[in-house]
Amino acid sequence: MDNPGTLPILHGMKTDLIIVGGGLNGPALALAASNAGFSVTIVDALPAATRSLRNFDGRSYALALTSKRLLQGIGIWPDVADHAQPMLEIKVTDGRAGEGAAPWMMHFDHAEIEEGPMGYLVEDRHLRAAFLAVMDASDLITQIDATRVVAQDVGADGVTVTLDNGDTIKGGLLIGSDGRGSGTGARAGIKRIGWGYDQTAVVCAVEHDKPHAGIAHQFFMPNGPLAILPLTGNRSSIVWSETTQCAAHLMTLGDAAFLDELRPAFGSFLGQIGLTGARFTYPLGLTLAQTFIADRVALIGDAAHGVHPIAGQGLNAGLRDVAALAQVLTEARARGEDIGGAQTLARYQEWRRFDTTTLALATDTFNRLFSNDNPLLRAARDIGMAAINAAPTLRRGFIREAAGLTGELPNLMRS
Ligand SMILES: Cc1cc2nc3c(=O)[nH]c(=O)nc-3n(C[C@H](O)[C@H](O)[C@H](O)COP(=O)(O)OP(=O)(O)OC[C@H]3O[C@@H](n4cnc5c(N)ncnc54)[C@H](O)[C@@H]3O)c2cc1C
Repeated sequence: MDNPGTLPILHGMKTDLIIVGGGLNGPALALAASNAGFSVTIVDALPAATRSLRNFDGRSYALALTSKRLLQGIGIWPDVADHAQPMLEIKVTDGRAGEGAAPWMMHFDHAEIEEGPMGYLVEDRHLRAAFLAVMDASDLITQIDATRVVAQDVGADGVTVTLDNGDTIKGGLLIGSDGRGSGTGARAGIKRIGWGYDQTAVVCAVEHDKPHAGIAHQFFMPNGPLAILPLTGNRSSIVWSETTQCAAHLMTLGDAAFLDELRPAFGSFLGQIGLTGARFTYPLGLTLAQTFIADRVALIGDAAHGVHPIAGQGLNAGLRDVAALAQVLTEARARGEDIGGAQTLARYQEWRRFDTTTLALATDTFNRLFSNDNPLLRAARDIGMAAINAAPTLRRGFIREAAGLTGELPNLMRS
């Protein structure tokens, strides 16, 4: 075959890659792959207008330095740079509402590494709008919105998907970027493991009197972690993991009553706080696909691995899938190999499966270790935190991990 990446039209549309899911990882892969010359069709069940709502306030992501590099490489960063808050330090403490932070803490300062800020806080609304705008400008990307993929059929030289309007699209490789319940994975016979945590994250943004100085805080409370993440200006994003029952109660409260509940956990170090926008809830759980690949199918992002947000690494892990898969596909095409072939996909899985399984297990263990009030565990983790904080090599290791600088970096994530 001259060019295994470009397939004949059998019926319907023809494309190199079909991506199911236009959330965050799907568009990132669409751009990375189209920049490498692949034609891409990306399908999402929701209308684009809904996905890019400007008032989608409150949600934001701690993007690692290497994720920022990827966004730079695929042309997204110029659109979000003005809205990105550098994350200069991270402070992690054990706490109890009303009692303030325990004296032991871990303090990670970007000044200990030479690469710069560990990451950037970017609001979801800016990121989604940028993805849609940059995809619109690409001749190689076809976007199909407000349409569900309902079936997929793998043949010898390609995969055909059927949309809920009856249309079909044929491609060389089908990418499942369709989130935690990935239908693409299920239709390919991929099994999943996972469980719920009986925790729900209440997510919102607050304004405060005092500047945050680019410092992110993680307080480990008995019911789950409270993350206070610096946004541009005197604003911070809150990710408050609580028991599902308690989170449901918090959502019934008016803004003033909600802030009365938040203040004892938040503390007064940033002065007076006020809500800026809506509150959102996310039920928390772990879900891991048993394999990330099947015949002409690859899973990326939450479709492959949905983890607890305790370390703010879910999207970062997905973007690393994106960078790795784009590189594997580009190298396969350069060697004249089939982009949907078993060998090509095995390379992607080999690169990403171990890392993401380790992340899933680490976030699970941290959550279990920290989301409780057992005095013995409390003492053990306080001693552990003090020990890590006192060891410069360990501390730097954590800083490099938070910046995404560890492991085998795909080209798009190198400096
Ligand atoms: C509270 C919270 C805080 C977080 N904070 C961070 C953080 O600070 N840093 C970080 O790195 N990560 C963070 N994460 C993780 C991050 O939000 C996710 O990893 C990321 O949003 C996953 O994106 P995705 O594109 O893989 O999936 P999704 O965003 O779930 O997108 C899936 C898309 O697929 C579409 N779809 C599904 N089925 C079909 C179908 N059949 N046909 C067509 N389309 C379909 C859906 O409409 C949707 O748009 C956080 C998560 C939570 C819950």
